[in-house]
Amino acid sequence: MTERLCWICDEPSDTGEHRIKKSDLVERYGRGPYRNDEPLVHVKEGQMRPLQGPNSQLVKYEKNLCANCNNSFTQPFDRAYEDFIPWVMRHEQDILKRRVFDFEAVYGAEWENRQRDLFKYFAKCFGCRLDEAGRAIPNDVNELLHKDSFETAFYVTFQINEDQLLLPTDAQAIGTHGLIAHKDAVTGNELGFQCGHYYRWFAMKYWYHHSANDPVGAPWIANAKHVYLGWYAPLTTEERADLIDKLNGD
Ligand SMILES: [Zn+2]
Repeated sequence: MTERLCWICDEPSDTGEHRIKKSDLVERYGRGPYRNDEPLVHVKEGQMRPLQGPNSQLVKYEKNLCANCNNSFTQPFDRAYEDFIPWVMRHEQDILKRRVFDFEAVYGAEWENRQRDLFKYFAKCFGCRLDEAGRAIPNDVNELLHKDSFETAFYVTFQINEDQLLLPTDAQAIGTHGLIAHKDAVTGNELGFQCGHYYRWFAMKYWYHHSANDPVGAPWIANAKHVYLGWYAPLTTEERADLIDKLNGD
């Protein structure tokens, strides 16, 4: 068996990044251990397994980063994200109404640097997902992690999931969107990718070299103070009607 290498620096990897951020699990469900009579269920590849706590191996990637990259190098990126989600949730009524947020309101005077760190956190998420799927990480994605200004085919959008919003707050989930590869119709070569993750109604989509045809929100590449949200409603009309009936107790 070949040794796995850190996809950021090519040194041997000895840590596994969280697939679902530990701070998101703690913010949403507490520190655990999660109760056995009503365990949180982690769904991966159609198999459901109970989740014991926010450090469960089930929510981590296989070892894909070295300790230095996973801890010290990317720590500012993680921190920017850890401050971002609680802010969004504290201001959810305002965001749902105006469908825009202002990074200065999120991060204060340091907003320009910290929105860049947040962007790098999403690039780290994307790299981990590609690495897990056995795909090479594009050079521009790896390189931007080390830079203050960069050009890249990677961008992020934020979307409101209208169907999650139908559910009571307690029933709104957190999780990941599967990796989708966009192929050239003739050659079958993979040209672009999309994936992402969500926290309740708030979906964060990462895109590489692919333009969406849907109202996914303004493409953001760490270059804006205000970011406009898009929306989607993944249920079919029938599924939505069933859900509303169920919620009404019919
Ligand atoms: Zn490394």
